Amino acid sequence: MSHRLLIIGSGPAAHTAAIYAARAALKPVLFEGFMAGGIAAGGQLTTTTDVENFPGFPEGIMGPELMERFRAQSERFGTKIITETVQEIDLSSRPFRYKADSEEGSADAVIIATGATAKRLDIPGANDGELWQRGVSACAVCDGALPAFRNQPLAVIGGGDSAVEEASFLTKYGSKVYIVHRRDELRASKIMQQRAFKNPKIEFLWSHLVTQAKGGDFLEAIRVKDLKTNEERDVPVAGLFFAIGHTPNTAFLNGQLETDEQGYLITKPDSTQTSIPGVFAAGDVQDKKWRQAITAAGTGCMAALEAEHFLAAHE
Ligand code: FAD
Ligand code: NDP
Repeated sequence: MSHRLLIIGSGPAAHTAAIYAARAALKPVLFEGFMAGGIAAGGQLTTTTDVENFPGFPEGIMGPELMERFRAQSERFGTKIITETVQEIDLSSRPFRYKADSEEGSADAVIIATGATAKRLDIPGANDGELWQRGVSACAVCDGALPAFRNQPLAVIGGGDSAVEEASFLTKYGSKVYIVHRRDELRASKIMQQRAFKNPKIEFLWSHLVTQAKGGDFLEAIRVKDLKTNEERDVPVAGLFFAIGHTPNTAFLNGQLETDEQGYLITKPDSTQTSIPGVFAAGDVQDKKWRQAITAAGTGCMAALEAEHFLAAHE
C-alpha cells in the first residue's frame, strides 16, 4: 500500500499527530505496534495508574483510559490503525518503504513516535533464566498486585519520578518498600518527593547499589552495597523493581537517522524534522529531557503540521 503519511507508534505523540493529520485530510496510517519494545499499544501510560498532570482532567484519569481516548479520537477522524510493529524502513529515498509484521508498503512522509522502553540492570541473579519475572520486574504497576508481593518487603531501584511513583504504588501491597538510590538526593519532582517522604511504608537506602538478587524459585533477598562505607549486607525482599529510566525505541531504524550517544533522535531546533527531509520525530523517542505525555502530544502536533507543509511543498 502507498500512503501519504505513515505514523509509527501509539503513545500521546503518535495519536496527537494522527488527529491533526487526519483532520488535515492526509489519511494517515498508524502502526501502533504489537508489544513493540515490550509495551502494549498505547505506550508508557498503559503501564501506570493515575495521570494527574494531563490538562483537561481535573480529577485525574487512569493512564490506560487516557490512551483509549487518544486512540478513539484518532479513529474518529479517519486514521487507519494497524496493530503491527514496523520492523524495518528504508529511508534512503522517497517514497520511504517499510515492512511491518505482515504488512508492507511506502509513504511520502513519516512520523516516528516510537517512544522509549524501561531499562533493566545486569545484576547477578536478576537476569532472564534467573529471578527475572520471578520477583524481579521493570513494571511495578503491571506486576505489583501479584499475590507473592502481598505483605512482603519490596524494593525499587532509582531516584526519579518513576521510582517514587512505583514505590508509592507498591505500598498498597507490600509490608514496606525500600527505594534504593545510588545518590543521596532524588531526581524526582518535589511533589512526588514530598509524598514519598511522608509515606511511613517507604524507607530510603541512600547511596546504595544492588549487587545481587538472591533466592530459589522466587526472589528472597537483595544484596546491597553502601557506596559511602563500601559495606555490603542482605536485605530480605520478595520483589525488586527497576525504575532507572528508558531507552529510546530506535533500533529498527538501523542508524539511518542522526541520534545522540544514547540513541535519541536528533531534531532540528524548534522543529520535529530529523536528519532526513520528510521524516519527523515526536515524543520520547526524541526527548530525553521533558518526557511527559503533554510534551509528547505537543511535539506530535508539531510533527503533523510540519509533515503537512512538507507534503504540500513536494506534491
Ligand atoms: P510512548 O508512550 O513511549 O509510546 C510509544 C509506543 O510506540 C509504544 O506503545 C510502543 O510499543 C510503540 N512502538 C515502539 N516501536 C514501534 C514500532 N517499531 N512499530 C510500531 N509501534 C512501535 N507522563 C505524564 O505526563 N504524566 C504522568 O503521570 C506520567 N506517568 C508515567 C508513569 C510511568 C510508569 C512511566 C513509565 C511514564 C510516565 N509518564 C508520565 C511519561 C509518559 O508516559 C511519556 O512521556 C509518554 O507516554 C511518551 O509518549 P510517546 O508518544 O513518546 O511514546
Ligand atoms: P529518570 O531518568 O528521571 O530517572 C532515572 C533514575 O534511575 C535516576 O534517579 C538515576 O539515578 C537512576 N539510575 C539510572 N541508571 C542507573 C543505574 N545503572 N543504577 C542505579 N540507578 C540508576 O527516569 P524516570 O523513569 O524516573 O522518569 C522519566 C520521565 O518520565 C521523567 O521526565 C519523569 O518526570 C516522567 N515521569 C513522570 C511521572 C509523573 O509526573 N507522575 C511519573 C513517572 C515518570 P541518578 O538520579 O543518579 O541519575
